[in-house]
Amino acid sequence: MRDVSKFYGNIKALEGVSLEVHPGEITCVLGDNGAGKSTLIKIIAGLHQHDTGGFAIDGEEARLGSPREALDRGIATVYQDLAVVPLMPVWRNFFLGSEPTKGRGPFKRLDVAHMRRTTHSELLRMGIDLRDVDQPIGTLSGGERQCVAIARAVYFGAKVLVLDEPTAALGVKQSGVVLKYVAAARDAGLGVVLITHNPHHAYLVGNRFVLLKRGTMAGSHTKEQLELDELIRQMAGGSELEQLSHELERAPSPHLGGGITG
Ligand code: ADP
Repeated sequence: MRDVSKFYGNIKALEGVSLEVHPGEITCVLGDNGAGKSTLIKIIAGLHQHDTGGFAIDGEEARLGSPREALDRGIATVYQDLAVVPLMPVWRNFFLGSEPTKGRGPFKRLDVAHMRRTTHSELLRMGIDLRDVDQPIGTLSGGERQCVAIARAVYFGAKVLVLDEPTAALGVKQSGVVLKYVAAARDAGLGVVLITHNPHHAYLVGNRFVLLKRGTMAGSHTKEQLELDELIRQMAGGSELEQLSHELERAPSPHLGGGITG
């Protein structure tokens, strides 16, 4: 993306945002609420179109008209509120919308055995050993469901995987597991866009970092150019945080008997 802007009426959601995604690399997009992360995802996923700037896939100018078109170009997006059918088995969710069939005419039916087998082996290939692919996907943990969604995108041939805050609702341990599979997708040769507001998670796996702030680019760095401390500082608001810490140090608490003595 080069210098992309997006308006909703006269609200400027994105202005002059550029980012690169390369095979076998993870580009992290960091930003606080309202920074424009969702807008950016929607453009990449084909839900919305950018107003100005350039968007190229394999060097060729593109304008994605729908999520289906994005998928056909190899861009798969995994949203935070994964669109799964909780009561259906894992294998059914894995193939949802792209079910293989066997037989012809009136004998045509879903190839259940193939779906079960493939789901199990594909998950295993990503290092996910589910005891039972027949269990309803709703019984899996949030982290496991993210992993199934990632494995699914890899299996269906995605070239670019967009992940919308995959660790936001997870604890430390599950976040680690999900990040491992994000890295596995990268190692499988996919270009990954990881949206997050956690600089620690981003730094663990990321190759490039794009910082958004109120719809504009607040920074763009490769891992070599950036220390974790600096990324944390920029995410935390940098000088704003220093100012706050200064104020907090000085402010006497009204609940502690009227201030600091001495
Ligand atoms: P983030 O995902 O980082 O929280 P968003 O992309 O949702 O940020 O929002 C960026 C800005 O665009 C915000 O100021 C938001 O209010 C505005 N915005 C997002 N979607 C719409 C919309 N459909 N209509 C109007 N304004 C929107």
